Order: sequence, then C-alpha cells, then structure tokens
Amino acid sequence: MLISPLSSALRSSVALRPISVAIKKASSFASSSIKMEAEKQYKFGPYKIDEKEVFYSTHLSYALVNLRPLLPGHVLVCPRREVKRFTDLTPEETSDLWISAQKIGKQLEIYHKASSLTLAIQDGPQAGQTVPHVHIHIVPRKGGDFENNDEIYDALDEKEKELKKTLDLDKERKDRSMEEMAQEADEYRKLFS
Ligand code: AMP
Repeated sequence: MLISPLSSALRSSVALRPISVAIKKASSFASSSIKMEAEKQYKFGPYKIDEKEVFYSTHLSYALVNLRPLLPGHVLVCPRREVKRFTDLTPEETSDLWISAQKIGKQLEIYHKASSLTLAIQDGPQAGQTVPHVHIHIVPRKGGDFENNDEIYDALDEKEKELKKTLDLDKERKDRSMEEMAQEADEYRKLFS
C-alpha cells in the first residue's frame, strides 16, 4: 500500500502528541517547582531571611519575627518585592500588605494577651527607616508597657540615641539567636494554619 506523505505526516504527528504532552507537563512541573522554591526565598533589604523566621506569607507579602523586638510580639510585615518606599508599592501589594497586617495584628494581640496594637511604617530614612525595604511594624500593646505611651515611636526610631539611653533600650535590645527567633515563628505559624 502506498502511503501518502500527508497521511505519514498525520500519523507521526499523532504518535508525537503523547510525547509533546509529556514534555509540556514536565516543563510546567519544573516551572511550578522553581516558582515554589522562589516563593520560599525571602529578602529584607540587604538581609537574606531564613524561612525559619517567617511565620506568614502570601504571594505578595510575608511576615517575620524581629531580630531586636521592642516588646513581645513586635513583628514586621513586608512586601515580597524589595522596594524602599511605600509609594513604590502597586495597589495590589498595598492592599495585600495591610490585609496581612490586619490578620497578623489580630492574632498576635490575642496571643500576647494585649489590648491594643501599634502599626507603624517609617517611610524613608528621615522618618527613621533603617532597613530600605518597606515594612509595617506590628507591636502588641498593654497598659504601662512604656511609661509614656508615645515613647514607642522614639524607640522605633533607632536614631534617637539619647532617648535610647534614657529608656535603656540598648541593654534590652540585643540581636537574638536564630534558635530563639525560629521558636517564636513556629508558635506564630500555628495561629495561621
Ligand atoms: P526601621 O528602623 O523602621 O527600618 O525598622 C527596622 C526593623 O528591622 C527593626 O525593628 C529591626 O530590629 C529589624 N531588623 C533589622 N534587621 C533584621 C533582620 N535581619 N531580621 C529581622 N529583623 C530585623
């Protein structure tokens, strides 16, 4: 029987279809696992953040425990994209960041048996920003945690050296060990599972 070039081309294209489907599936699996790996990598300005410090994440934002918390439960929520200023965020990032902060604040206030929250952004160096990557500070608050309530803003502003001395924050605010931070993040992660 004579096989026309057309029917032969058709037959080989049918035979090749399962292979091309398999290749497509494999490449989409590879690209989704690359995406998953990338989603596990966190940067906070110049710092590489270990995923053990991260207790909450969405595709646009993540939250980490603090290296030098001012009070128990003082955490940070950041956009995944490394941008310096609040106005650099897209509307989607802005919305996701604040919705994340709202959820996290609610849970941490309960967890720490606090009765209020400070939510603050130091947006730019002259506003006290020391890490050039947008972040919302979330601090669960209790009566009497600072002698004068608004001293928390001076304490957040690392540049207020004189006040830091008065408040003796240097003594309290040592860099914490990864073990301590990982343990805290493990506890918080359970609040969002
Ligand atoms: P700001 O002064 O508003 O830029 O705040 C910077 C915050 O980041 C402070 O609360 C620091 O304690 C905290 N911080 C700095 N480096 C790290 C880090 N590597 N991991 C976690 N928190 C950090």
